[in-house]
Amino acid sequence: MKYNRIVVWFRNDLRLSDNETLTRAIQQGKEIIPIYCNDPRLVGKTKLGLPKTGAFRAQFLLESLEDLRKSLIQLGGNLVFLQGKPEQVVVDFAKQIQASAIFFSKEVTSEERHVDKALEENAFSNKIACESFWQSTLYHKDDLPFPIKQTPEVFTQFRKEVEKQSKIRAPFPLPTAINYPGEALIPDAGLPPQWTDYGLEKPKREEHSWLKIRGGESSALGQLQSYFWEKDLLKRYKETRNGLIGMDYSSKLSSWLALGCISPRTIYTEVKRYEKERIKNESTYWLIFELIWRDYFRFIAKKHGTKLFQVSGIRNQVDSWRRDKAQFIRWAEGKTGVPFVDANMRELNATGFMSNRGRQIVASFLVNDLEINWTWGASYFESQLVDYDVCSNWGNWMYVGGVGNDPRENRYFNILRQANTYDRKGDFVRLWIPELQEIQGFDIHQPWELSTSDLRALKIQLGHSYPQAMGKIPALEKTY
Ligand SMILES: Cc1cc2nc3c(=O)[nH]c(=O)nc-3n(C[C@H](O)[C@H](O)[C@H](O)COP(=O)(O)OP(=O)(O)OC[C@H]3O[C@@H](n4cnc5c(N)ncnc54)[C@H](O)[C@@H]3O)c2cc1C
Repeated sequence: MKYNRIVVWFRNDLRLSDNETLTRAIQQGKEIIPIYCNDPRLVGKTKLGLPKTGAFRAQFLLESLEDLRKSLIQLGGNLVFLQGKPEQVVVDFAKQIQASAIFFSKEVTSEERHVDKALEENAFSNKIACESFWQSTLYHKDDLPFPIKQTPEVFTQFRKEVEKQSKIRAPFPLPTAINYPGEALIPDAGLPPQWTDYGLEKPKREEHSWLKIRGGESSALGQLQSYFWEKDLLKRYKETRNGLIGMDYSSKLSSWLALGCISPRTIYTEVKRYEKERIKNESTYWLIFELIWRDYFRFIAKKHGTKLFQVSGIRNQVDSWRRDKAQFIRWAEGKTGVPFVDANMRELNATGFMSNRGRQIVASFLVNDLEINWTWGASYFESQLVDYDVCSNWGNWMYVGGVGNDPRENRYFNILRQANTYDRKGDFVRLWIPELQEIQGFDIHQPWELSTSDLRALKIQLGHSYPQAMGKIPALEKTY
């Protein structure tokens, strides 16, 4: 054994299976002490003054920690909870229990990397070793066919190169036991973070929220089982993935991936098994394709550092964005008067989730129609999304905002054309905007086209019961 006692610091890797950090610690340490540190900086405010961790994500995190603790206890271990800045309190704790090493997973973006560096320096000066592991991507960083600094700027090129030249590593197996020193050494394992730490109210389950997800590795594996095997939905994923309503149009794995309750390699391995045992088609490939998008934003974030969060983006574009707070608030609250945008924003506010199609539409509306600073949109999503992932969120926003590396210049989404393709009968809007419910068919997407008498008959008064549309919405070419 290389070390006597190892502290395993869990971060965004809240799982036991395919967890290299934990596996290596078990291999190299006589005793293992798994910990989670509740960093006060994660419950602060964004630049817009919004909570960094919104209520839905906070709930998902608390559930995930509960699940992780239970699983560790089943292996003979526990999860010790600390409170404070990890670079300080994790090292203090390691010192106090005379651990010889701290193991943790590497993060990608600047704030987290500063923490890593500070923790390593503090540990070093206390003669405690640190070992960190890269484990959030499908393709391991060390297996890329190019140095990170030369990561291709264009997704297709990135994808083709990794698909051709890199291999995806097999997941690490689930550990069978943990040699935890127990109460003699750690009489008080502490309490998980509480709602009061976040200064938030526990969210009410929205009655027509279909997002039935619970944080934790057990439910992540349950969702995989359900989506792939029980409901057999993977074989149609490519056709359904642009859906808007229900649990079944896409995998809904993003929230678990964001906190590391499941690894992309575990999902990949399961796709391969499904391809062998059920069917291999474009849909099965497409889920992997989307996971490669996720990787791409991670490596791009690593390559470009803090540029990811700057309004000028990777392209160093001139900042000509508008900063109209009143309009931004209308967008955020789902009161733009453009029903397809509002329905998506209301879904986000009520459930913490929005479909990929919806995210693209509302983001395009904010940056292209309202010309409002794209970083405000990214910041709002950061606060609200249950599946918030720093690289995927800021990377996608940069992309829609045209300050990323997308070679296609025009990323404008014509709202009515999108509505006509993805919500032709208006069912999605009808679900989230009750005040327009009585409007039949596609007309619900453009109430401004109805005559005053029609609106009166439906008891709708634009500007009163539902807002007048902001900006000029390009008309839909008559194809429907
Ligand atoms: C403006 C904007 C912001 C976004 N913010 C986030 C975010 O904070 N966190 C997040 O996980 N995804 C984000 N996405 C990507 C995508 O919308 C979500 O991953 C997806 O909707 C989650 O649902 P799902 O798990 O059912 O996805 P599925 O369609 O089942 O896809 C499977 C997995 O592939 C990955 N994936 C799919 N699409 C993308 C994509 N465009 N970029 C990166 N990864 C992708 C996700 O991990 C997802 O869970 C954002 C997209 C946009 C346009």
